[in-house]
Amino acid sequence: MGRIALLCTDFDGTLTSIEDKGRCIPELSAALQAIRENGALWLINTGRSLQHAIEGISQLEAPFSPDFLVVNERHIFQRNGKNSSEAASWEPLRDWNQTCDLRHEELYQIYSEAFEEVRKWAAIHPQIQLWEPDGRIEGVVADSESSMDLLVDFLLTLRQSFPLLSFQRNSVYLRFCHCDYHKGSTLLRVAQEIGIASTSILAAGDNHNDLQMLDPTYAGYLVCPSNSVPEVRAKVALHAPFGFISSKKFGAGTAEGIWKFLQ
Ligand SMILES: [Mg+2]
Repeated sequence: MGRIALLCTDFDGTLTSIEDKGRCIPELSAALQAIRENGALWLINTGRSLQHAIEGISQLEAPFSPDFLVVNERHIFQRNGKNSSEAASWEPLRDWNQTCDLRHEELYQIYSEAFEEVRKWAAIHPQIQLWEPDGRIEGVVADSESSMDLLVDFLLTLRQSFPLLSFQRNSVYLRFCHCDYHKGSTLLRVAQEIGIASTSILAAGDNHNDLQMLDPTYAGYLVCPSNSVPEVRAKVALHAPFGFISSKKFGAGTAEGIWKFLQ
């Protein structure tokens, strides 16, 4: 294990919270500043859309701008301008994003039967709402965590017949995806772009959609704040002493994890 060359953080619940009004608290600012001075780049890896992520970055008022951005848990952007609050400053990694979109087009074509199964299941479970922005089922919103647990059980069974089908869960929200596209694979692609090994990456996250990047395959140092879901805490604990579960919430917890592995 060596110097941390890349910090990869989730956004909501990891950098900020509603309690913090989306702002970067002073403890986190100090930790970010320290890891930056140590030479690390910063990737924000989120399930937010590009526009929503940019709004969040603007509201965050971090001491410096992230260098890379992953949105929708799958599309990669690199900052090429100073002003991270402008969409024009974010350049897509074209090869990755285009292939990603193509794989998802194919997924919906070859797995129409799987999505029909989802539609049938939703019809008899009114506690979940399908999200179909362009006539295809992109995701689901559930009325509670337990309703989402039920849906996840159903989807895990469905996946046995449709192995390319995967999903990203973030609390009561879920987005369908191709199994090759998640926060772990996007982190790997960014690491390749920079030319660094997983052993020099610190990843921090709090929810189910962070599980794939919170893995020694993709990051040598793993951090989660105390508000993390039990599955995330369990996975980070497995990687001790290079996995750290903070006793502090949100940005304060992430800051504590950064300090721990920076020293
Ligand atoms: Mg989160």
